[in-house]
Amino acid sequence: MRPPTIRLEEVSHRYPDGTLGLERVSLEVLPGEGLAIQGPTGSGKSTLVRHLNGLLRPTSGRVLFDGEDVGGWHVAELARRVGLAFQEPDRQLFRPTVWEEVTFGAASPASARAALEALGLEQLRHRHPLDLGYSRRKLVAIASVLAMATPVVVLDEPTTGQDRRGLELLLEMAARLRAEGRTLIVVSHSQEFVERACRRWIRLDAGRLA
Ligand code: ADP
Ligand code: MG
Repeated sequence: MRPPTIRLEEVSHRYPDGTLGLERVSLEVLPGEGLAIQGPTGSGKSTLVRHLNGLLRPTSGRVLFDGEDVGGWHVAELARRVGLAFQEPDRQLFRPTVWEEVTFGAASPASARAALEALGLEQLRHRHPLDLGYSRRKLVAIASVLAMATPVVVLDEPTTGQDRRGLELLLEMAARLRAEGRTLIVVSHSQEFVERACRRWIRLDAGRLA
């Protein structure tokens, strides 16, 4: 499946408690693009990326895939196109072994194996994800998203807590995704990661595009 052109039109999001998470953000992401989203804590980065797979819906404004408003699409339809690895891996992990976690939504057993291998997790496949350290849990959550083989991959702070080896594995994975023509959207505070993995950077500040 070819990645869609993703367009946000004046997207605002207000949480039920009244907090304005995102304010009139307009953005276009082309197929195969590598886009980094930066900005301070609380600036709306996670709120923005949660709109790409339907986890959140705009309070106002629209999200368009190839010109079509996805407001009426079921989450499952969006999930076939966009895989999102959460900032907080423990909100995503729920299976008793790494292997089951990564195969749960996988496109095929082969894509699950490839994802485990890409992130250096093969040896840990029989372990319980929640028994692993934070940086490994993060890699498991990312691997389970990669295994879905979606044309668009969104990673919310994948580099947090990673050592040099983890960073290099993530960079190789990003390069492979880009070479396959898949779209990569990454929230990251690692300047090295965004410079090497992405071609365009945007910055959010207090919910607005800076
Ligand atoms: P970032 O990812 O850039 O750190 P977030 O998108 O998580 O920022 O948060 C943007 C704003 O929305 C912040 O003010 C944050 O406190 C608020 N926010 C995030 N999630 C929720 C929520 N579930 N309910 C209420 N406010 C939230
Ligand atoms: Mg965040």
